[in-house]
Amino acid sequence: MEITVKRTDSPKKKPDWSKLGFGKIFTDHMFECDYDPERGWHDARIVPFHNISLSPACMVFHYAQEMFEGLKAYRTEKGDILLFRPDKNIERMNNTNERMCIPKVDPDFALEAIKTVVKVDSDWVPSLPGTSLYIRPFIIATDEFLGVHPSKTYKFVIILSPSGSYYAAGINPVKIAVEDEYVRAVRGGTGFAKVGGNYAASLIGQQKAEENGYAQVLWLDGIYHKYIDEVGAMNVFFKINGEIITPKLEGSILPGVTRRSAIELLRSEGYTVTERRISIDEVSEAHDAGKLEEMFGTGTAAVVSPVGELYWGNKKMTINNFEIGQVSAMLYEKLTSIQWGKAEDKFGWTVKI
Ligand SMILES: *Cc1c(COP(=O)(O)O)cnc(C)c1O
Repeated sequence: MEITVKRTDSPKKKPDWSKLGFGKIFTDHMFECDYDPERGWHDARIVPFHNISLSPACMVFHYAQEMFEGLKAYRTEKGDILLFRPDKNIERMNNTNERMCIPKVDPDFALEAIKTVVKVDSDWVPSLPGTSLYIRPFIIATDEFLGVHPSKTYKFVIILSPSGSYYAAGINPVKIAVEDEYVRAVRGGTGFAKVGGNYAASLIGQQKAEENGYAQVLWLDGIYHKYIDEVGAMNVFFKINGEIITPKLEGSILPGVTRRSAIELLRSEGYTVTERRISIDEVSEAHDAGKLEEMFGTGTAAVVSPVGELYWGNKKMTINNFEIGQVSAMLYEKLTSIQWGKAEDKFGWTVKI
């Protein structure tokens, strides 16, 4: 499918690249494409960034039939632009679509759409250390209908947002609170799909954690309130007595591209990584026995985020003296070196635009 390009006549003033933050600044253009049963996905276009006009009866507003993705474009020292494993985001996008009864998108076409919009806004890919261009593809149900049924029409949009260095002040361990009242997802539900509804369900736990001075929530499984699922928007890893453990994918956890890359990288470095159920009691006991060596989260935004304190019930567990662990530091260094094109990409993970 051809993607038409209509450029803006009034480009925005570029931001102060040293003060980008996250998710507040948007580029000059966006990708848009529509779906109906007769034409399938059609009218693929890059257009100036604009507000979308929709009927208040649109299904997405009432029943949350929608999906999203998140990945980044990185500027290398030579000035090239790299994507990191976009095929994995696109594969996950179609897994989410299937769960949400949204029509799938041809993977080659989705990659072309991402590449084209980033190319058109390539002067928005920042180059200061640690900065990148965040790419947010999403699909919404657009039928004007209040009945509960999959929509017949959809809109696929990609917006872009230059984002600042997550660790402008250096990598800092975060404090995480275990949530044992609310749950985020259950097996059979939508935990493995990247959908807004999961985040809507998580807000109250996140708010509770923040009120108590914690950055994010560690979610437990929805049935036993015992096994560890993940942290906010990150997958989670533990190093206990030399073994690296991450919860296995059983349907309630989002299968992160960073999680998968971390597992593959650690194994290639000779570490043993086990994907299995791990209970909060096991983590707590390992802590008390002095065997909880490291804990860290993985996700596109922060790449690797060491956890320095875990709060569960009335217990505060300090991990690795609130310092960055050796595995966390190594992973962060290796992954970011590949993403920004500083190290040889022996896995073939990056895609040049
Ligand atoms: C996106 C996301 C992640 C991280 O996935 P990456 O592909 O590594 O960015 C983890 N958990 C949740 C709930 C997410 O939405």
